[in-house]
Amino acid sequence: LARVLSGIQPTADSFHLGNYLGAIRQYVALQDTHEAFFFIADLHALTVAPKPDELRRRTRIAAAQLFGAGLDPERAAVFAQSHVREHSELAWYLICQTGMGEAGRMTQFKDKSARYGESSASVGLFTYPILQAADILIYQADQVPVGVDQKQHLELSRDLAQRFNSRYGQTFKVPSPYILKEVEKITDLQDPTAKMSKSSSSPQGILDVLEEPNVLRKKIMRAVTDTGSDVVADEENKPGVTNLLRILSALTGTPIPELETRFAGQGYGTFKKEVAEAVIETFSPIRERTEKLLADEAELDRMLVAGAARARKVARETMEQVRERLGLLPTS
Ligand code: ATP
Ligand code: MG
Repeated sequence: LARVLSGIQPTADSFHLGNYLGAIRQYVALQDTHEAFFFIADLHALTVAPKPDELRRRTRIAAAQLFGAGLDPERAAVFAQSHVREHSELAWYLICQTGMGEAGRMTQFKDKSARYGESSASVGLFTYPILQAADILIYQADQVPVGVDQKQHLELSRDLAQRFNSRYGQTFKVPSPYILKEVEKITDLQDPTAKMSKSSSSPQGILDVLEEPNVLRKKIMRAVTDTGSDVVADEENKPGVTNLLRILSALTGTPIPELETRFAGQGYGTFKKEVAEAVIETFSPIRERTEKLLADEAELDRMLVAGAARARKVARETMEQVRERLGLLPTS
């Protein structure tokens, strides 16, 4: 069975439609066909120094949403990244294999650090793609389901795997990204050329999985559309309408050309109403299950601990090899 691995950050009180279509929905499908490892990237969230209570709350909310969206602890290992301490250990080894220039080319750092000012952004934010490489390589993952924003980081993971293998001998599998073209970048409703993002979208621009139906409906009805009134996909001139078409198509399984024909001559209103209903229909059951799971924190914590135990078994195997290859002495 091929292996898949992916992580998602607990950086907000809800996941959003981009996370759902670009990542979580794939996770749920892949657990049936692959050996699957999915983690809540709490170590990555630390790069922006969240308040401890906030991190705890968001990590549980993230876990509940993953289970609520359909991840099954029997089929997939679902865990908190910090629980498998080998991730941090491998990150250090890989940091020592990474050039400053190479790390400096990561565009997410440039985007994210701009918010704090490059000199006050943490070193962790700078090295986070290398921790991400460790996350992936430690499980010998074949495929990594992500949105297109992670493509550059995946390239770095591949480079680091190849470099380590050629310096120290075959150790890591070289992973491939698993990016679905149709949903690789869901954009912000108010700024349809920017990616929908937990930490940079405005409340009006983002569709949260845990949001009330009425709020979702309002946001979609107020989404920035483009001049004209035709419902047609045109990335250049109609990025707003194109994003909504992509969303409706992904949620209903109807190809975009068919949607264009269906909504011809009907204007944006009818179209947006249908997008809203599709989003609400998808999110409502997830929200209900998430709320139930959050009502029993002790059980949720136990589920994560069990997931980590499964993941750790695989991680430890890799690390024994890595330490030996690097020339570190045996620990026992
Ligand atoms: P943050 O702003 O804190 O980085 P985020 O919204 O980018 O949050 P992440 O936790 O970084 O979310 O990413 C989780 C997964 O969701 C990744 O696989 C990422 O590629 C995917 N993803 C994030 N935003 C989008 C989007 N707008 N469209 C498609 N996929 C997305
Ligand atoms: Mg992100």
